[in-house]
Amino acid sequence: MVRGMSEISTIGGKRYDIVVIGGGHAGCEAAAAAARMGAATLLLTHKFETIGEMSCNPAIGGLGKGHLVREIDALDGLMGQVADAAGIQFRVLNRRKGPAVRGPRAQADRRLYRNAMRARLAEVPQLDIYAAPAGDIVIDGGQVRAVITEAGEHIPCGRVVLTTGTFLNGLIHMGEKRVPAGRFGENPTVPLAARLYQTGLTMGRLKTGTPPRLKGETIDWTGLDAQPGDVPPEPFSFLTTEIAQPQTACHITTTTAETHRIIRENIARAPMFSGQIEGVGPRYCPSIEDKVVRFAEKTGHQIFLEPEGLDTDWIYPNGISTSMPEAVQHAFVRTIPGLEKVEFYRPGYAIEYDYVDPRELRPSLETKKIAGLFLAGQINGTTGYEEAAAQGLLAGLNAALSAGGGEAFVPDRASAYLGVMVDDLTTRGVSEPYRMFTSRAEYRLSLRADNADQRLTDLGIALGCVGRERAARHQEKMAELTRARACVRDLTMTPNEAAAKGLTINQDGVRRSAHDLLRYPGIDLARLAEIWPALGGFSPKIAEQIEIDAAYAAYIERQDGDIAAFRRDEALRLPENLDYGTVAGLSTEVRQKLTRIAPVTLGQAARIEGITPAAMTALLAHVKRADAGRGRRGRRKAAAAGASTAQSAV
Ligand code: FAD
Repeated sequence: MVRGMSEISTIGGKRYDIVVIGGGHAGCEAAAAAARMGAATLLLTHKFETIGEMSCNPAIGGLGKGHLVREIDALDGLMGQVADAAGIQFRVLNRRKGPAVRGPRAQADRRLYRNAMRARLAEVPQLDIYAAPAGDIVIDGGQVRAVITEAGEHIPCGRVVLTTGTFLNGLIHMGEKRVPAGRFGENPTVPLAARLYQTGLTMGRLKTGTPPRLKGETIDWTGLDAQPGDVPPEPFSFLTTEIAQPQTACHITTTTAETHRIIRENIARAPMFSGQIEGVGPRYCPSIEDKVVRFAEKTGHQIFLEPEGLDTDWIYPNGISTSMPEAVQHAFVRTIPGLEKVEFYRPGYAIEYDYVDPRELRPSLETKKIAGLFLAGQINGTTGYEEAAAQGLLAGLNAALSAGGGEAFVPDRASAYLGVMVDDLTTRGVSEPYRMFTSRAEYRLSLRADNADQRLTDLGIALGCVGRERAARHQEKMAELTRARACVRDLTMTPNEAAAKGLTINQDGVRRSAHDLLRYPGIDLARLAEIWPALGGFSPKIAEQIEIDAAYAAYIERQDGDIAAFRRDEALRLPENLDYGTVAGLSTEVRQKLTRIAPVTLGQAARIEGITPAAMTALLAHVKRADAGRGRRGRRKAAAAGASTAQSAV
């Protein structure tokens, strides 16, 4: 049910299991996930109109990020389907490379994206939406009790998922100009930030930036290279069968020597270089002034001119995020081919905001200090819609599980990019805005975008966060895939038979299955279907999986050994309140680090920066001794209980 501002008075009367604060990418997924799990959930956000707003570039997915979107989708989250509904150009990045590092990406129509997200949220049962700024969180005895809006309405609840993005003490910079704001034209969140500082959570300051928005009609498109999308477009969601929106192209241009000269001449006026900004920015998504200084030898930087929608003239120039004074922005942008006469709808700017050190969180994304307070998204030091949405989903699920008295759900590093991200954040913290890359995942051959459903949907069904339609479609797909996998393993031929059919393989007398033959260069399913017609009957998605299975089989077998070793360490759980002062052989520095992060498993302890192999040996010995002690005490107790039972029987 969606509530309007006119229903303001009704809000105070209802108690919610979970209140999600913030209707950005993290908040939408958190609210939907919690409600799908059956928790009475309220999404409390500034405005209905900005639900699902893309604060920066109008695009979803990419390398690593596309993997996260598929994982969200596999757990029945919203982002994949919403991006499919709003996508106006789809491309699979790295298509020529192996499937593990391919990243689905879509240019989205901003307005359609917001509309589709609002429509999806409106369909979620158990979810109310209320537009008002949250002013405070009531915490009593270390436990969340309620949320209070800035207007003073009291909303009792046991759990809060806080997803305020760049709004906490947000400060916009544009040259020497500074304006308190959460995002262009929106107020910052100040009272809530004060509450967070008061709770003793460790916090810091980060920054990010955005480019100017250009008037399309003032761009000279002739001479610019067009970049069309893939035909046919490949959707994000495992449920989407067709992309309905008309597809459009992006265009490419580059900065020039003159652009760089103007930027260099004005560099002292850039807030990052003048010392006006304290926060650290994203190294992998630098501003144009950063790029000009850091890569001084480069004579040009590529810019993608991305349409912000189908029926708008706004163009997003991807690659020139800047916080230079507005006049300098105009001057340097007009030195770029095609943009000589360009006009702006809005100048670029940087924003500085508070974040909470994610080492304050358990892997469930609940804070260690305050029971019932979960954090997700940019507030945890990440950057990007997909990173935010994936955390939102996890926090929403775990808030609901916790409300129902259940155990937290945390996928490990070998199951999901989501697991990699949460482990990185909670174990190592951040020194700059964290974004996902395929290189962060050590088991990336298994964590592919194409198999996210195979990795996660059954888990989601067991948790209760996957709806009936997806569960049924998934089970159908898995049944077809199982049949196809059996088929390619059952059909076999000898090298002589293969040679007779024109296949070039080792002449070693070894009988090989169709699965084995697919590993040879030049042999694909279509070729084998000429020999075994049964192999021609698979649907395209299943056929693709069968070929990927074969291509990766040898590597994945090797990786399985590493994953088994990793999971052995992950299975060694550390007691929650372990007093590291009692662990012999640890240095003071290591003790402090372990106490601060309170790793959940021995594996997580090993991944903390500065934890040496010697420290791990000492920790393992301590845990084993403690386990043996507990075992001995348990046996003595059982024996004593047995004796007393025997006595009472006498
Ligand atoms: P947001 O999408 O920011 O959503 C926060 C939500 O919380 C909003 O709906 C807001 O209204 C609501 N809210 C805040 N405070 C309150 C309150 N007190 N009460 C009720 N509601 C509240 N990402 C990139 O990957 N690359 C980039 O280059 C990039 N550049 C960016 C540039 C700018 C200027 C900005 C603002 C963001 C940029 N981002 C970039 C970040 C990207 O927008 C975020 O990573 C993403 O939106 C984070 O999602 P989120 O859900 O955490 O927060």
